[in-house]
Amino acid sequence: MEYWNPRIEKIPADELRKMQYKLLKMLVYRLYNFSPYYRRKFKKHNITPDDIKNCEDVSKLPFTYKKDLRDNYPDKMFAVPQQEIVRYHVSSGTTGKPTIVAYTQQDINLWTESLARSLTACGIGRGNIIQISYGYGLFTGGLGLHYGAERVGASVIPTGTGNTERQIELMQDMKVNSIACTPSYLIHMAEKAENLGISIKNDTNLKIAILGAEPWSEKTRQRIEDELGIDAYDIYGMSEFNGPMFTECSEKSGIHIWGDHMLVEVVDPKTGEVLEEGEEGELVVTTLQKEALPLIRYRTGDITELYQDLCECGRAHQRIARIKGRADDMLIIRGINVFPSQIEYVLMQTREVGKHFQLVVERDGALDKMTVRVEVSTEAFSDKINDMIALKNRIKDRLKHFLNINTEVELLEPGSLPRFEGKAKRIIDKREF
Ligand code: ADP
Ligand code: ZN
Repeated sequence: MEYWNPRIEKIPADELRKMQYKLLKMLVYRLYNFSPYYRRKFKKHNITPDDIKNCEDVSKLPFTYKKDLRDNYPDKMFAVPQQEIVRYHVSSGTTGKPTIVAYTQQDINLWTESLARSLTACGIGRGNIIQISYGYGLFTGGLGLHYGAERVGASVIPTGTGNTERQIELMQDMKVNSIACTPSYLIHMAEKAENLGISIKNDTNLKIAILGAEPWSEKTRQRIEDELGIDAYDIYGMSEFNGPMFTECSEKSGIHIWGDHMLVEVVDPKTGEVLEEGEEGELVVTTLQKEALPLIRYRTGDITELYQDLCECGRAHQRIARIKGRADDMLIIRGINVFPSQIEYVLMQTREVGKHFQLVVERDGALDKMTVRVEVSTEAFSDKINDMIALKNRIKDRLKHFLNINTEVELLEPGSLPRFEGKAKRIIDKREF
């Protein structure tokens, strides 16, 4: 078992909590005195640094929303003068107008430290050859992982996204054994390789994939791992935290959130009430050490739960469950709440379907109607109408059985849905609000 920073990673839970309290107290003090934005907000809610007497007191602080970042666009929430800023990134704007995030040198150092710990926990270090196939540039993924991987001493190939054939060639020529990208891009790359007569499993050295930036299910992990002969780890983050920051460890049972960097809570997305560990809700984060863009109780919009038990890997840093999706991606199909990742889970259990699907949501009277469009695998695709009808009905029954939803299912020829180099776009929403 390897640790990047054993002193912090193996800290006992009670000591970590004490450290978090000190950092939280300092943060509130700093923002109250030096950030015009938070000072105004705290005053409005009658909060002073003296109100913070333990870690749990974080719940006395007001929430921060994505809307606050938008309303204060581009830089009114920054807590340091421009001279202190060494970098900007821009969110990909999945849910509307992009927001701008800023970093001091210390912020970049902490982000890199976070990823150095995480990559080490996934088995990446000196001697590894890693291809970074996340977008470089305004998107945080590429540069973030680039710095993290260099820090642990891996040999980095900064391929970025696109030019997939060249990426596969480099993977073979340079004996790449690890990759970081979105799960949909790795799936696309594997398909492209197959079309070129190259099997990632047999004809490359790839052994580890760090996959994230979009929701993906446990079943998809199993299929990727089996078909590509690799270990696939989930990585999570968002530009507001810095970018991708946290991964699973070798246990693959939840994502460790480095407690000295971030204090996490899970709240009821509707009422904002703090939920117990093990209850599903929206992840809320307070960045404990960020300088340029500190966030107090930031509503991530991402749905997860906190795990309470100590991880087998020996780290007491809290874990969150695989992100189910964003609260705003949740679909209500005839009264049943469902996340696209749950549909993916059911589809990936069906051997005859490939890994590409799309959900079309329409309004049918007052109700939402969903059509699941899924590609059949090359082996299972057949001209026999009866086989296809039977398969379609089987998928419909499974969706009904596991998720209790009625859907239309459309089977498609392999290769007919769009492929993605970055985040996949799987929901086509035709409803008018
Ligand atoms: P944007 O919100 O503009 O897409 P980001 O590129 O920072 O900005 O994306 C962050 C979002 O991506 C997260 O809030 C989350 O919804 C999603 N995401 C990132 N990593 C994962 C992951 N491992 N699993 C599920 N969703 C993820
Ligand atoms: Zn662990």
